[in-house]
This record gives sequence, C-alpha cells and structure tokens, in this order.
Amino acid sequence: MASNRTFTMVKPDAVAAGHTGAIIDQIIKSGFKLVAMKYLFLSPEKAGQFYAVHSERPFYKDLVAFMSSGPIVAAILEKDNAIEDYRKLIGATDPTKAEAGTIRNLFAKSIDANAVHGSDSDENAQIEGSFFFSAFEQF
Ligand code: GDP
Repeated sequence: MASNRTFTMVKPDAVAAGHTGAIIDQIIKSGFKLVAMKYLFLSPEKAGQFYAVHSERPFYKDLVAFMSSGPIVAAILEKDNAIEDYRKLIGATDPTKAEAGTIRNLFAKSIDANAVHGSDSDENAQIEGSFFFSAFEQF
C-alpha cells in the first residue's frame, strides 16, 4: 500500500538565499502537513551517509561537499499520494528542465544546488525520515 508520507530537505543554497519561508509556505499551501521539522547542519560524514546510495556516481564528492556547506531544513510531510505529488511540486532534478511554478523552477540555481530534496519511494521516505527524526519527534 502506498504510504502518505515523504521526506524533504531545503538544501544549503535555498536556505542561504533566504528561501526557506517561501518554500515551506508553498509546501503547506499545496496540501502537505508538517509531521516533523528541524534546522540543522549536516557534517560531511552525515551527508555522506545520507547519500551513500550515490557513492559510485561521479558527482558524489561534490554532492556531499555541497550538502555540508551550510545549514539545511529537514522535514517529514504528509498528504495522500505524498511521494508522487511532492515530486511533482518540486519539479525535475535539473532546474532548467523543471516545470514553471515548481519549487526547483522558482528557487534552484543548478543541478547540484537544486533547492530541495524529495524522496523517490515509500521505502526511501521511511529510511530518510528516520535518519533525522525519532518517533518522538513526529506529530
Ligand atoms: P533527485 O531525486 O531529484 O534529488 O535526484 P537524484 O536522486 O538523481 O540525485 C540526488 C542529488 O544529487 C540531486 O538532487 C542533485 O543535488 C545531485 N545531482 C544529481 N545529478 C547530478 C549531476 O549530474 N551533477 C551534480 N553535480 N549533482 C547532481
């Protein structure tokens, strides 16, 4: 059964540019409920663990360096059909290919500094959410 939760991060580029509030506002106005949220700094070690699935990709080193270059906002979101609807809301990985009005179209700078993360499956949403939040931090 499809779950109704997804996991997101506002990435360092968007936080540094002051877009956190606008992005969270757009997420809530699109019908997602905040289940958990925190503002934190990912060490290179933690960023490497989070993106371990990409460790063989040529961009892994840059990705880890970027994700630990400044604070991020991590959140768990709830909505019917959360994974698919959230991927639609954020747009394509490469912001030049992201549809008009999507979060990456509005706020991302490049394919690596692409403003937000969104889980790609129920299984990963569960793994990623529990990477950051204990059961006591989810409401
Ligand atoms: P996502 O699910 O849309 O975030 O995309 P992926 O899971 O394929 O990639 C994870 C993250 O790695 C992306 O959000 C980008 O920040 C980064 N990334 C993906 N492809 C590239 C690339 O070709 N070059 C660089 N520098 N970063 C990339």
